[in-house]
Amino acid sequence: MLDSLKKIFSGNEADFPVNTGSKPDISREKSAALYEKSKTYFPGGVNSPVRAFKSVYGTPLFIEKGDGCFIWDADGNQFIDFCNSWGPLILGHNNAKIREKVTETMQKGMSFGAPTVLENQLAALIIKNNRFVEKIRFTSSGTEAVMSAVRLARGFTGRDKILKFEGCYHGHSDSLLVKAGSGLVTFGETSSAGVPKSFAEETIVVALNDKNAVTQAFEQFKGQIAAVIIEGIPANNGLIIQDKDYIHFLREICTENNALLIFDEVITGFRLGFEGAAEYYDVKPDILTYGKIIGGGLPVGMYGASAEIMGHISPDGAVYQAGTLSGNPVAMAAGIATLTELLKSGFYKDLNKKTEDFASSVQRFATARNYKFKVFSVGSIFWFSFTDKDAVKSADDIETTSMDKFKVFHNQLLNRGIYLGPSGYEVGFVSAAHTKVELEKAKRAIFESLDVAFKS
Ligand SMILES: *Cc1c(COP(=O)(O)O)cnc(C)c1O
Repeated sequence: MLDSLKKIFSGNEADFPVNTGSKPDISREKSAALYEKSKTYFPGGVNSPVRAFKSVYGTPLFIEKGDGCFIWDADGNQFIDFCNSWGPLILGHNNAKIREKVTETMQKGMSFGAPTVLENQLAALIIKNNRFVEKIRFTSSGTEAVMSAVRLARGFTGRDKILKFEGCYHGHSDSLLVKAGSGLVTFGETSSAGVPKSFAEETIVVALNDKNAVTQAFEQFKGQIAAVIIEGIPANNGLIIQDKDYIHFLREICTENNALLIFDEVITGFRLGFEGAAEYYDVKPDILTYGKIIGGGLPVGMYGASAEIMGHISPDGAVYQAGTLSGNPVAMAAGIATLTELLKSGFYKDLNKKTEDFASSVQRFATARNYKFKVFSVGSIFWFSFTDKDAVKSADDIETTSMDKFKVFHNQLLNRGIYLGPSGYEVGFVSAAHTKVELEKAKRAIFESLDVAFKS
C-alpha cells in the first residue's frame, strides 16, 4: 500500500498500474431501506432534488456522521467526502472550533427575533475584510439572498428586467428559474412548472462568454435592464471559468447603461479567497450575494453592497425584505468560527495549492492514458469532466453524452470509498481537512475508477 502510494507521490502518474477490474458494489442495504421509507414522506424521497441520485447508479446514501474529510453512511461505509455539503464545509466535517462556538451559543437559547451581538460580530468580520461591501443583510439561504438582491436592483434602478446567463444557477426563486430559448438574446423560458410566463419575460437569458449577446440585449432593451447577474465563477453546471476580460466587459457595459452588476458568490464567496471571485477577477460588482461557507454548515445567506445601494432596503428604504430566523444566533456563531479560521494567514494559499496539486496529478494521469477527461479547477473547487475540450466557457460546451461515463466513475468511486456529488454537472470541493495522505488515497481510487470507466 505505502509503496504504491509512494509511486504516486513521485509524480509519475503514467506508471500507475492499469486497473480495469470494476470493484463490486459496497453494501448499501440500510440506506436503501431508509430510502424506501423516505419516499413515503418526501417527493422523490428527498428534500432537495439532486440528492435523489437520479443521474448516477443506485439510491441515495443516508449519511450518519462526518468528521474531518470523512463521512460514514448508515451501512457503516466510510468515504473521503468531496461534496462537503455542496460547498459550505471548507473546514471539513465536525470542525472543533465551529462545534464549540455553536454549542456555547446554543446554551443561551436558539433564537430571539431581536438583534444579538453575534450579528454585529459576523458583519464586522465580513465588512472589515471585504472591500466590496459596506453594508449587508443576513438571510437564511442563498436563494433568499439572491432573490432579495434582484429586488434591490429593481428597486434601486426603477427597472424590471434582469439579464442572466445560461448555465448559471442562482437558487430557486421564480425570476431565476429561467432558461434560454432559441436565439442569441431571448426572453427566458421557465425552467420549472409553476413559474408564470410573465415572470420569465422579465428575465433575459444569454450564453456565457458571448459579448455580442450582452451588447445586443442592452440595445434591444434600452433603459429596461436593472441588473446583470452572474455567478462569481459559474460552478453549478460544471465549472465554467470565464475570462477576466469578459467579466470586465460586463462591468463596463453595466456602468454605461446604468444597470447594476450582481455577483452571485454563494459558492465562490470565501472559497476562492476571502473576497471571492470579485477579488479573483479584480472587479467591483454593485451587489454581492453569499451563502454556503458563510454559515459554516448552518443556514445563512447574505447580500451586500455600498451603503448607498443598501440604503434602499427596508426599514431605511422602500425595498422590503425580512426573515423570522435571519441573523439566527446559532448560525451566526458557526459563521464567526468559520470566517475566523479563513482569515488566518496562509489559509487559502495552502488550501488552493493542495487542490491544484491534486487536480494536476489527476490530469497528468488522464493525459498519460489518453482519456477524454479534463479536470478544471480554481481555488479549492474542481470539476471532473469527460471531455477533450481544453476549455469549457459556456453551457453549450458540455456534452450531455459525457455523463454516461460519469455514472460508472461515480459508482466505482463509491465502491472505493470516495464520495462525489451524485451528478456529473456538480463540482467537488477540497476542504482544509483533506490531508495529503487522504488526497493520495483519493487519487489512487480516481485513477482506478477512470480505468474502469474507460475500458471499452
Ligand atoms: C447554492 C447556490 C445558490 C442557492 O443557495 P441555497 O442556500 O441553496 O438556497 C444560489 N446561487 C449559487 C451560485 C449557489 O451556488
